[in-house]
Amino acid sequence: MKIPFADIKRQYKEIKSEIDVAVSSVIESGAFVRGPFVEEFENQYADAYGVKNCISCANGTDAIYIALKSLGIGLCDEVITTSASWISTSEVVTQAGAKVIFCDIDQNTSNIDVDKLEERITDKTKAVIVVHLYGHPCDMDKITSLCQKHNLFLIEDCAQAHFAEFKGKKVGTFGNIGCFSFYPGKNLGAFGDAGCMVTNDETLAKNVKMFANHGSLIKHQHQIEGINSRLDGIQAAVLSVKLKYIDRWTNRRIEIAKMYNKLLADVSEIQLPLLDEDKKSVFHLYVIKTDKRDELKKYLADNGISTGQHYPSALPFLEAYSYLNHKKEDFPVAHKWSETILSLPMFPEMDNVEAVYVCEKIKEFFRN
Ligand SMILES: *Cc1c(COP(=O)(O)O)cnc(C)c1O
Repeated sequence: MKIPFADIKRQYKEIKSEIDVAVSSVIESGAFVRGPFVEEFENQYADAYGVKNCISCANGTDAIYIALKSLGIGLCDEVITTSASWISTSEVVTQAGAKVIFCDIDQNTSNIDVDKLEERITDKTKAVIVVHLYGHPCDMDKITSLCQKHNLFLIEDCAQAHFAEFKGKKVGTFGNIGCFSFYPGKNLGAFGDAGCMVTNDETLAKNVKMFANHGSLIKHQHQIEGINSRLDGIQAAVLSVKLKYIDRWTNRRIEIAKMYNKLLADVSEIQLPLLDEDKKSVFHLYVIKTDKRDELKKYLADNGISTGQHYPSALPFLEAYSYLNHKKEDFPVAHKWSETILSLPMFPEMDNVEAVYVCEKIKEFFRN
């Protein structure tokens, strides 16, 4: 048996007729950049999310960058974020002109360690970017109260967490702004790059919309200099079709996660994702931890099972941040995390037989 890590072609096959019609209608209309299809998707996403504003942009990285710039973050400011994420989260801080301050992660959730977060705050700190990694919500009670106490902006990187919930409230709606990626491999994925921001703050909504479109809200009137970060009509049309299925796909991810949890529960050599009841994860990734990570990864590959590492290095230890001179001991949990994590196959179209096979092979590895 061959089991891919993810398989976006299976999803396309299921909804091919609808997608093909949607894409053709964009081509026939000629509304390729922004326009009616984009507006329609923004409205649908805002409704589905229960927020006043959804502002689309070119990708998830831009979404965070635009948010930072529109909140006025720049030179001399510090922004605190997690040590465990994709580089987008931290590189945009530097791009905005501010200084990125990393914080270690929690050993159980792989999300930012809220207890260590407060120690990182200085009088230069302006914002915190939390990442709901793997689709697991952060502890938003503690984070929002900390941000309120210190008067900090809160940006949520929800690139992996569409419709995840903390205490029944959707992630992305706790802070000033929530940033989403619709990269093809994300839980809600376009057929190319795409992203958006959600916010209930009308002024911020106006500012991000303006910044993303050359500093302009009305054609040829440029109030500020901005960037070109716009959503394509074709991506928006694809996303509108897919949005109808997101609950079903999310539920299926949760079902697969439950199967993994159950079938792997008695393998003492691995740590499964640990989530308390307050958190509804959308399982963008199902990540286990084991000291035998490299051997297990190889064993699974030899048995036709593709796995991933999200991510092979914690952010502070990437070459890009060598100038910060961080040592292992600065972020011990994140360092250990990068050496033990393994992402198992996870996509809604995966069937039970495949999930069972993955678990059997993992058990077989530890039996031998
Ligand atoms: C994918 C991702 C991003 C960036 O999204 P793009 O659309 O690829 O630019 C940002 N943060 C996290 C955590 C991601 O997984």
